[in-house]
Amino acid sequence: MHFPGDKFREECGVFGVFGHPEAANLTYLGLYSLQHRGQEGAGICSCSGKQFNLEKSIGLVADIFNERRLKRLPGYSAIGHNRYSTAGGSNPKNVQPIVANFSLGQLAIAHNGNLVNAMELRKELEDEGAIFQSSSDSEVFIHLIAHSRDGDLKERLVNAVEKVAGSYSMVLLTEKELIALRDPHGIRPLALGQVDGAYVVASETCAFDLIGASYIRDIEPGEMLIINANGLNSTRAVASPQRAFCIFEYIYFARPDSLIFGGHNVNTVRKAFGKQLAIEHPVDADIVIPVPDSGVPSAIGYAEQSGIPFDFGLIRNHYIGRTFIEPKQTIRHFGVKIKLNPIRDLLEGKRVVVVDDSIVRGTTSKKIVKMIRESGGAREVHMKISSPPTIGPCFYGIDTPTRQELIAFSHNVEEIRRYTTADSLAYLSIEGIMKNLPNPDDFCAACFTNQYPIIFPGQESQLELLF
Ligand code: AMP
Repeated sequence: MHFPGDKFREECGVFGVFGHPEAANLTYLGLYSLQHRGQEGAGICSCSGKQFNLEKSIGLVADIFNERRLKRLPGYSAIGHNRYSTAGGSNPKNVQPIVANFSLGQLAIAHNGNLVNAMELRKELEDEGAIFQSSSDSEVFIHLIAHSRDGDLKERLVNAVEKVAGSYSMVLLTEKELIALRDPHGIRPLALGQVDGAYVVASETCAFDLIGASYIRDIEPGEMLIINANGLNSTRAVASPQRAFCIFEYIYFARPDSLIFGGHNVNTVRKAFGKQLAIEHPVDADIVIPVPDSGVPSAIGYAEQSGIPFDFGLIRNHYIGRTFIEPKQTIRHFGVKIKLNPIRDLLEGKRVVVVDDSIVRGTTSKKIVKMIRESGGAREVHMKISSPPTIGPCFYGIDTPTRQELIAFSHNVEEIRRYTTADSLAYLSIEGIMKNLPNPDDFCAACFTNQYPIIFPGQESQLELLF
C-alpha cells in the first residue's frame, strides 16, 4: 500500500555496470557493500549478447551468491538490487531485478525508492488489461514502458517518468545499454563511477571503493544517463525545479564511508551533527558513548566538541542473522541485549552521555537507558539525539512507521524523556541540522517538519498529509 499513514518499505540499494568482462562479479561485490540498504533479498541480472541471465532470491548477498550461481551470470553488463527487510515477511516475487520481455526487446530494472502514485497507476494499468506479478512499485514502471505505444525505449522511458511521482533512483538494462535514472527531486542518492574503463552506477560510493572504481559524479536529479558502446549520453528525462535530497540518508541510512548528494562524506556530516548537538545541549558528564553503529560518528563529534572522553560503552553483536530464534522458556527474555551489551568496567558509577541518531518509536532508547543504568551501573544517563524529533512518516522510501507510532508525533520531549527514563533527553534542532548540511535548501526534511515536497494524487494541500 502506498497511501499516507501507511507503512513504507522500499529503501533499497542498486548497482549497475556496463562494458566489463566481470560484470556479475563486480555487481556481487557492489551489492555486498550496499547490504546495509536492504537485507530481505537480492538479485543480479547480467546480459550476454541477446541473453539475459537472472539470479535472485530471499536472503543476504553472501548467502545467495556462490561461485556456481555467479558463473550462471555471464556477460559484459549487469544490474543488481538489495531489497530492504519488511516487518510483514518477505515475498520472493518482490525481489529485484525484474525482467520483462516487450515489443522492443528485453528489459531489466532495479529500483530504489517509492512511487507515491503507484496504486493509482496500477489500477489504471490493470483496467487496461495489465497483469502484475508482484506488489512492487517497480513493476508499475515496467508496465508503463510496455504500454507506452510510440517511440524508442528512451521516449517510452520519458513518457513513463512523466506519469510517476515519488522517489526513484534506478538502473535499467537492455541488450545494448545500461540506463541510470533519478527522479526530479533526487530523493535517493545515485552515483556514477569508472573502473578499468567501464562505467558503474551505485546507490552509494562505498560500492565503488570495494571494486576499485573512481567516483565521477552523481546522476543528476531528473537525469537519464544512457551508457553504451559509444560511452555516456546524458539527457534530461524530466524537469527538476526543486531538489529534495533525503536528510535521513545523512542521519542514519547511508554508510559513513560513502560520498552522497554531490560528493559529501556521510561521516563528516554526521560528526558535524554531533558537534552541533554538544553546542546546543551541553551537560556535565564523565563519558560519551554511541549507540552502535548509527550513533558512532555523531558521538565522536559530541565528545570532540564537549571535551568529554569518548568510548565504546555498548558492544554490538554483528552476527545476528534473520533466522535467530529466541528460546521461549526457562531462559530470561533477552530484549535488546541480544544486540547490545554494556561494558560495566567503563560505565559503573559514571555520568554517561549516550548518543543515537534518531528515536522512532522510542522502544530502543528505553531499553538502552535501562541497560546502561542496570547492567552498566551508570549513575546518570543523558540521551542525546543527533536529529530533530521524528514527527512524520516517510512516503519516499525510508522505512518509518505510521504517524501514530512515532513517539514524537504525540509526545513532547519531556514526555519522551520520562518514557525512556533518561535523566535528560535532548534532540538536535532543525536549524542546527540545516546549518551543518551542504546546500541545505536542497533537502527534504519532511520527517521533522511535516513539509512534504511531493503532493499525493487527490491531495489538495500539505495539511491532508498530517493525519
Ligand atoms: P525506535 O526503537 O523505534 O525508537 O528505533 C530507534 C532506533 O532505530 C535508532 O537506534 C535508529 O538508529 C534506528 N532507526 C532509525 N530509522 C530506522 C529505519 N528506517 N530502519 C531501521 N532502523 C532505524
